[in-house]
Amino acid sequence: MEQETVFKRIQEADMVLVGLGEDFERWGQLRADPAWRRGRDGLREAGCGGLLPAWTEYGARRLGQKGPGDALDRLASLLEGKNYFVVSLSMDSAVSSVEAFRGRLVTPCGGVRDKQCPNGCTGTVAPLVEADRDALDSAFGKLFEGTFTPEDLPDLGRCESCGSRMVLNNVYAQHYDETAYLDSWRQYTGWVQRTLNRKLLLLELGVGLQFPTVVRWPFEKIARYQQKAFLCRVHERLYQLPEDLAAKGCGIAQNPIDWLEHL
Ligand SMILES: [Zn+2]
Repeated sequence: MEQETVFKRIQEADMVLVGLGEDFERWGQLRADPAWRRGRDGLREAGCGGLLPAWTEYGARRLGQKGPGDALDRLASLLEGKNYFVVSLSMDSAVSSVEAFRGRLVTPCGGVRDKQCPNGCTGTVAPLVEADRDALDSAFGKLFEGTFTPEDLPDLGRCESCGSRMVLNNVYAQHYDETAYLDSWRQYTGWVQRTLNRKLLLLELGVGLQFPTVVRWPFEKIARYQQKAFLCRVHERLYQLPEDLAAKGCGIAQNPIDWLEHL
């Protein structure tokens, strides 16, 4: 489908539901870098998978890789004045940093903003403080240079209930504490309920098959059952739509970051 047509659909929609996927994280560009890959494997082996989103942002910064910030700003300006909501699988802090998304964003996978008890003790989710960010940077510096040992794991403080070392609050934590996003999730489901009989555009950008139950399948379901819905799916490889949605959507075989730049 022509880009002007999608642009027109955004303009004409009463409501726009945006799904952001893993293409809005930076590891795609980093996979070729041996230092970053070695660090990723080291963190996984040490059972510290929860640090991976932060490691990815660190690696991108260190290697001077561009994040998704510009594409997200472009998206926000396209949606200016529209009634929209964003559900993001991306854990990149660039997504939660978009000022215009405030109050219209849910990040069910968590990210690098908060920490929690690794054992899931209740009520431990808290935002990272500067000392935590310094601890992460210092540990990642060693990881990047290959001098990292398990003693260098970042100290993000201790859980007040069980005394364990805190970890980042995201889906890779062993006992992911989902309370941090529940309020915005309630906002999101309420918003979706109000799309009934409205001209709804579903804009699914770079969403693969890692967590299909959060965006991909629900978006298909909404497109299927809501008469006035249209699903626009942008992905380099996984752009196809189910056959029964052929008349109610379009698949665009492109990287969503590039696509947004030219929309
Ligand atoms: Zn605890």
